[in-house]
Amino acid sequence: MVTEGRKRKVIYAVVEGESTERDYLGFLEERFGGDPPAFEIHVLWKRKGLKPHEVVSWALEKLGEIDDPRREQVWAFFDRDDHSRVEESYARAEAAGVHVAFSHPCFELWLLLHFAARLSGAQTSKGVQDRLRAAHRTFHDFDKRLDAPRLTALYGNEADATNRAKSLIGNCPSMVCTAKKGHGPDCKVLDRVPSTDVWRLLAELGIVSR
Ligand SMILES: [Zn+2]
Repeated sequence: MVTEGRKRKVIYAVVEGESTERDYLGFLEERFGGDPPAFEIHVLWKRKGLKPHEVVSWALEKLGEIDDPRREQVWAFFDRDDHSRVEESYARAEAAGVHVAFSHPCFELWLLLHFAARLSGAQTSKGVQDRLRAAHRTFHDFDKRLDAPRLTALYGNEADATNRAKSLIGNCPSMVCTAKKGHGPDCKVLDRVPSTDVWRLLAELGIVSR
């Protein structure tokens, strides 16, 4: 590690889904990692996916294995969707120092924000999927996989998506939530709909500004 001589950031991302998040994080590494790479992202995933509490358990396990907390970070990616134990999982991850990229209702909301600012009906996973399919022609038959044309369509819209995601924080029922400070102590995870914190990873990696 020391002989490498660079402070390359290493992200361990435990993801709930079996394909979409994995495709997206691979794209981030490939498109934005640079040469020599400024960061690497290791995606930890399982076929058929994981439940939020399983994502968090794995993330905690991973956190116990890292050597250099300044260089290595563990992230947990999970959705509200129709899962149970979401609040408990979120709290457990946060308390342990795992970075949480939570999306409500689903990860695809983050993709949709690359194209659209208007989100009426995006409170449900189906609503988000329908809007995403309509938002760009490469997504018209979208079903979990992010192929090259879809990734190309997303590329370049990261800053817009981030600004839109940040403005959603201002819509939280808890009045103290802001993009800068994050969610307030009274902001219930399940009330944050629609919302997504995926942009925080991009900010952490210097892809977008905080
Ligand atoms: Zn909030």
